[in-house]
Amino acid sequence: MKIAIVGGGFTGLSAAFYLSDKKHQVTIYEKEKYLGGLAATYKATGWEWSVERHYHHWFTNDNAALSLINKLGLSEKIIFPKTLTANYYNGQIYPFNSPLQLLAFSPLSFGNRVRTGLVTLALKLIPSSIGQTLESQKATDWIRRYFGEESYNNIWEPLLEGKFSRYKEEINMAWFWARIKKRTLRLGYLEGGYQTLVDALAHKLEKAGCTVFTGKSFENKYRKDFDRVIVTIPSFTFIRMFPQLPEKYKNRLLSVKHLHALNLLLITKERILDEVYWLNINEKGFPFLAVVAQTNMIGENHYGGNHLTWIANYLPSNHKYLKMTKEEIFDLYLPYLKKINPRLNSQFSILNSQLFFGPFAQPIFPLNYSKIKPKFTTPLPNIYIANMDMVYPWDRGTNYAIEMGEKVAKLIHQQVI
Ligand SMILES: Cc1cc2nc3c(=O)[nH]c(=O)nc-3n(C[C@H](O)[C@H](O)[C@H](O)COP(=O)(O)OP(=O)(O)OC[C@H]3O[C@@H](n4cnc5c(N)ncnc54)[C@H](O)[C@@H]3O)c2cc1C
Repeated sequence: MKIAIVGGGFTGLSAAFYLSDKKHQVTIYEKEKYLGGLAATYKATGWEWSVERHYHHWFTNDNAALSLINKLGLSEKIIFPKTLTANYYNGQIYPFNSPLQLLAFSPLSFGNRVRTGLVTLALKLIPSSIGQTLESQKATDWIRRYFGEESYNNIWEPLLEGKFSRYKEEINMAWFWARIKKRTLRLGYLEGGYQTLVDALAHKLEKAGCTVFTGKSFENKYRKDFDRVIVTIPSFTFIRMFPQLPEKYKNRLLSVKHLHALNLLLITKERILDEVYWLNINEKGFPFLAVVAQTNMIGENHYGGNHLTWIANYLPSNHKYLKMTKEEIFDLYLPYLKKINPRLNSQFSILNSQLFFGPFAQPIFPLNYSKIKPKFTTPLPNIYIANMDMVYPWDRGTNYAIEMGEKVAKLIHQQVI
């Protein structure tokens, strides 16, 4: 069959990998000049490795991603460095990697530290069949009830606020449960960055005879040239691409709200964070939600000895930061970075910086989302959609994009055998 795949992110690449292996004639259309989608990378002159435009790592239980890495013969390139996570609260950095460190988190009373540890453990132990049923409850209500007000105010509320801003009250508990359930202490990364996986996939696809267009959007009129089309782009763009879709269906897809990612990558001579890889900002009033130091995960040697740190945000469409220049964003963030690390007042040399925008990067999952979750099939014959609105209740990630790409590809392949 002749199959077009719209989007060269991990969903599209994974679907293409499966379908070309089954001898279908696959064509990928990617509108950007590069593949990888939200996990695409950036490489400055003199660097040995690329780095993701937005911070990326895998968990040790990301089986779909690990299996693909294995199939492509890249297992020896995967590394699982030890990383440190911490919370910034009331002017202090609190390590947050182990039960003992939670017991030392003085912004909570001792009783609430123990309670937070026990409830987190209970969430980890809840099996998936039960965890998914929590979607009928609001995460904020559940957390308040079981973790308690103090834990909600000092730990979880700032994190939900950072990740979902004004939508935090809409998020259902199944999403929160899945987030806790899935997280592993060790994180995975590939030598060379995610680009290593993108390159290996592109190479395999080329060898299998797949046509890959980059810098080329798919257009409605190309439909007639293909037996099937798999669309992996955000629903908002899909609807504009196929205006003939029924209004009711369009409105249903559009009812899923999203936030956009805005990440400022700072390339510096000195470290911005001393040891911590991932710093959650639990203090109210900060203009960003996390600081993520790539070079505290894998060292600076592969980046010409420079330190790489993202200042992270998720923002709604009309947010004023999305209209600001890189320089304005930097000026806004700098005083807060200096609060986190006062040493930056005297010692701070930015070598380079990049501002990366990730459109529709975080769907909002309201109560009982499983009932409105879109399906792969659409009202248009032979047109399929597979995008991150369908990754649920697990937090969207390349692992699930790879899994979903394979699922939608299998569905199509099975129709013809
Ligand atoms: C800030 C941030 C941090 C993240 N952290 C992690 C992490 O730590 N670990 C992890 O595994 N995942 C992480 N993710 C999630 C991960 O990047 C995504 O889940 C995954 O890349 C989604 O892949 P996708 O192919 O479904 O979608 P996308 O990557 O969005 O791919 C869609 C592609 O379609 C293309 N496209 C759009 N319109 C058109 C058109 N008209 N014609 C042709 N092409 C078009 C786009 O350019 C894009 O390349 C993170 C994401 C963000 C934003």
